[in-house]
Amino acid sequence: MTDGPEARGSLPADGAFTADRLLDEATAALSAHGVPSPRVDAALLLAWATDTTRGAVEARAVIGGAVGAAHVQRFRQAVARRCGREPLQHITGVAHFRALSLAVGPGVFVPRPETESVAQFAIDALAATALPAPVAVDLGTGSGAIALALATEVPHAVVYAVEQSADAFAWAERNNAALGSPVRLVRGDLGDALPELDGTVSVVVSNPPYIPDAAVPVDPEVRDWDPAAALYGGPDGLDAVRRLVVTARRLLTPGGTVVIEHAEQQGAALRALLSAARFRSPETHRDLTGRDRTTTAIAPATGA
Ligand code: GLN
Repeated sequence: MTDGPEARGSLPADGAFTADRLLDEATAALSAHGVPSPRVDAALLLAWATDTTRGAVEARAVIGGAVGAAHVQRFRQAVARRCGREPLQHITGVAHFRALSLAVGPGVFVPRPETESVAQFAIDALAATALPAPVAVDLGTGSGAIALALATEVPHAVVYAVEQSADAFAWAERNNAALGSPVRLVRGDLGDALPELDGTVSVVVSNPPYIPDAAVPVDPEVRDWDPAAALYGGPDGLDAVRRLVVTARRLLTPGGTVVIEHAEQQGAALRALLSAARFRSPETHRDLTGRDRTTTAIAPATGA
């Protein structure tokens, strides 16, 4: 923070704006444009515009602290973008995922909170192997979110991530580099990826595209900004899942775990696909909002 009235939170000079007034103004505008959490977004954008934390913004609002003109302008421009339903994370350039702050923007899927619980199953399975360097593969890594969570939270693991989109791959590379490149990134299709690892992988995890082609999302942030390749999975949404189940069978060692994110209504279909591929113990798990979100299964013995 800079010196001056802003930092001390003293009464604003004539013509200056107070944080609480700016937040009220932005909340009303965002609300009028249908933004689902207008007050939170207003605070996060003011934090971004003033290079501080949301907590510091809230504190400044309580005491009626002033915000300087340059910051006001930056804030209002950001609010205008958000009113156009550009994702908050594209405006700030950051998506938070578990303990990570990931760079995101055009061309990459913004990691979602519900995927944090998907990653947890992969982390637990990876941490539970007795191997000194268990191998994990994240198929369709996008920004690198799941793979980087695995690599940073299970540091003795060897984590690979596969991504086909050139745009998304660039974001994954940037995020990986920012963390010291703990993930081995591979550009390619999830169907024929990493043949050299066949039969050696302990965990295969994926948040594939799974929305049925006709079920176009209502939220403009998703519909207009997330890449279509990260969202849509054919007529029933399961085209990529069917291919990744085959890849998971090829990659996993007997007893290895596959972890797949899916839509709330797809649990039974996921379990059926995994059973048909001779996976053992398919189980569907709920996310923190109580919705079916993740199906896990265990790879069978060789030849089964
Ligand atoms: N959960 C995502 C959404 O809300 C869907 C992403 C996907 O298909 N993997 O849009």
